[in-house]
Amino acid sequence: MTAATTPLHYLSLADAAAALAARRISSAELTEAVIARAEAVEPRLRAFLSADPASARAQAQASDARRAAGGGLGPLDGIPIGLKDVIAVRDQPLTAGSRMLEKFVSPYDATVTGRLRDAGAVLYGRHNCDEFAMGSSTENSAFHPTGNPWALDRVPGGSSGGSAAALAAGEALATLGSDTGGSIRQPAALCGVVGLKPTYGRVSRYGLVAYASSLDQIGPFGRTVEDVALVLQAIAGHDERDSTSVGAPAEEFAAALAAPSVPRRLGLPREYFGEGLDPEVAAAVEQAVSHYRELGCEVREVSLPHTAYCLDTYYVLATAEASSNLARYDGIRYGHRCAEPRDLHDLYFRSRAEGFGAEVKRRIILGTYVLSSGYYDAYYLKAQKVRTLVRRDFLRAFAQVDALLTPTSPIPAFQRGEKADPLAMYLCDIYTIGANLAGLPAMSVPCGFTRAGLPVGFQLIGKPLGESELLAIGHAYDRVHQWGRRHPNL
Ligand code: GLN
Repeated sequence: MTAATTPLHYLSLADAAAALAARRISSAELTEAVIARAEAVEPRLRAFLSADPASARAQAQASDARRAAGGGLGPLDGIPIGLKDVIAVRDQPLTAGSRMLEKFVSPYDATVTGRLRDAGAVLYGRHNCDEFAMGSSTENSAFHPTGNPWALDRVPGGSSGGSAAALAAGEALATLGSDTGGSIRQPAALCGVVGLKPTYGRVSRYGLVAYASSLDQIGPFGRTVEDVALVLQAIAGHDERDSTSVGAPAEEFAAALAAPSVPRRLGLPREYFGEGLDPEVAAAVEQAVSHYRELGCEVREVSLPHTAYCLDTYYVLATAEASSNLARYDGIRYGHRCAEPRDLHDLYFRSRAEGFGAEVKRRIILGTYVLSSGYYDAYYLKAQKVRTLVRRDFLRAFAQVDALLTPTSPIPAFQRGEKADPLAMYLCDIYTIGANLAGLPAMSVPCGFTRAGLPVGFQLIGKPLGESELLAIGHAYDRVHQWGRRHPNL
């Protein structure tokens, strides 16, 4: 499909920006098309937790007015963009997929929200997610599951499943998610779109509901690598309100794509291609590797020897941090309060018992355990040390190669209800958590479909603050194949 025959709601962000700039379409028309699309598919897909069409229409009109008044508008001006419901938008609900925050309305904008507003984006839709971003299927949402647009009885991945599904279904032109162990990249792979987790500290988390603060990053979903670069450019950069935000100046990420850069050396970590990898996923990823070889890039096997410990390390550190971060939801300072408490203890106990779902409770209990006196050294401290070893593995590999290429998810989208065992669900993150533990930028790029028509993605992992190079490498594949421009039959 060419840009001229593509329905407005399925345009790439870059194509829509060009059409807006050329006055071929207005933001009001584009936004109306996205709202109409959402109204048509939401009863079946359920990617949204809330939406405010009136506000979106007003923002679109404001953008059109700015354009009519002349002046150079940026590429996001007038573009409908949706947010995972863990990112604060002033005067909008912010539930984190939890009963605990069911009635919470955010009094302020997250930094990324403010930056999207400054860029003129039309904020539309709060997307479903696993409760407090804990999960890989969006089934842990306290409200309802979300379908995969390519097969409605399958999961969209998680925890940012709503944001990936909404984009794949044409309910936004780009979306933002959060990624603590894979929550942007895995749903991107399962829904057939691009998803980027930036370097830890690259994007401010001010206004993000915290899950595991040493791992959490906000990042974009887009239909193409170029779209992801455009959104990253708007949201990245130092923020004094997030003490972990890096001082590195924001880069011209989209401009980096214009330079015809071919990666010189790509590494395939041998530990990422072993047992548990679905053969159809392996075949699609292998095709992407062949593409890079044909581009003249040197592909070599590398080793990340501590990979086998990543999952255990992650589930110690993430749960420890979650147990601390979620202590604030006590029914007094924040969140759901039980009816008629007998005393303070009863209030705490019942408010938290009623407000949190099973997976969140499991993690709070596990996290409290690994931090408790007597177990701290054996679990938490040990995990911190292993984390250092994992990071060293990556940095050593980057002495030999410019980026690593791996599958994003070992399997394509699975059936809802299929992974009832928590451990089976945790194994979905096996290839994505390394980049979080090491704080590295990583991106999932769609690379084909299984015979059953389910999307497959490959992952590129880059050097610290190497987003420009990572995007250029991803673009070298994506500009030719553009799998993210294919659309489900919904
Ligand atoms: N699936 C992982 C978890 O449940 C990662 C989630 C995330 O990245 N937010 O912790």
